[in-house]
Amino acid sequence: MSTEALHVEIDPAAGFCFGVAAAVRKAEEALEETGSLYCVGQLLHNVHEVKRLEDMGMRTIIREDLSDMAGKSVLFRAHGEPPDSYNMSRLGGAIMVDATCPVVRKLQQRVKQSCEDGETIIVYGKPGHPEVEGIVGQIDGKALVAQSKDDLLPDQLPENVTLFSQTTMSKEGLHSLAGWLENQGKKVKLHDTVCRRVSDRVNEMEQYARAKDVIIFVGGKNSSNANQLFDISRRVTSRSHFVESPDDVQPGWFRPGDRVGVTGGTSTPVWLLRETARVVVS
Ligand code: SF4
Repeated sequence: MSTEALHVEIDPAAGFCFGVAAAVRKAEEALEETGSLYCVGQLLHNVHEVKRLEDMGMRTIIREDLSDMAGKSVLFRAHGEPPDSYNMSRLGGAIMVDATCPVVRKLQQRVKQSCEDGETIIVYGKPGHPEVEGIVGQIDGKALVAQSKDDLLPDQLPENVTLFSQTTMSKEGLHSLAGWLENQGKKVKLHDTVCRRVSDRVNEMEQYARAKDVIIFVGGKNSSNANQLFDISRRVTSRSHFVESPDDVQPGWFRPGDRVGVTGGTSTPVWLLRETARVVVS
């Protein structure tokens, strides 16, 4: 590829958020100590990083396996888990390595309190997403989960509702859902529980994309955060490309002199950004 004149930069603001970084560190420590670790669900939305840890001895299990993990180390990822997972692990004799992100844990506690206060809870999030399952699991599923207004029937809602957000959803979407509920005559107690790290990245992404000619966005297709950030980049420049691996980079995307930004979501490891940047300049 004619790339000599390309100016390639790895986005200095990219890389793991602190919750994912801590979970990966805990996994590495447990693997160094015992050589084996069982993670409940995919540790993070990045197949390359998961593969790296699997090569060190990590295995992915499902919640139902927890009852059969006597004496084995099991990792609860940053997304958090419902109380059932803790109960099953205790009863099954597993050694718990809890990497629930403190931001998620705080959200779980707030939702629990709100339920104890008798409020009708709506969680703005993706139905079935592990973080959402962990949140609604705190209150025996007594919450409505809505990804958009289309998931709600205003006639069946009481006058007062309490709205929380999954940490990786967009602030814009949360406020727009709150506004819609108010237009339906509801009194909304809004808890903006979008993670600061996520909302900061959203603002940074727009500015970063503006300063570049081409954006190579490295992320997992199933990552909410990666998709949200990529959408912002694409709104700024049509020359934004989503790749899951360095092999996806295509020479035809670049013109001599282009300023190329290599960036990613909160679960994209920096080593993968470096490998991708290397392919762009090679
Ligand atoms: S995005 Fe925020 S809440 Fe989610 S794991 Fe990272 S730091 Fe924690």
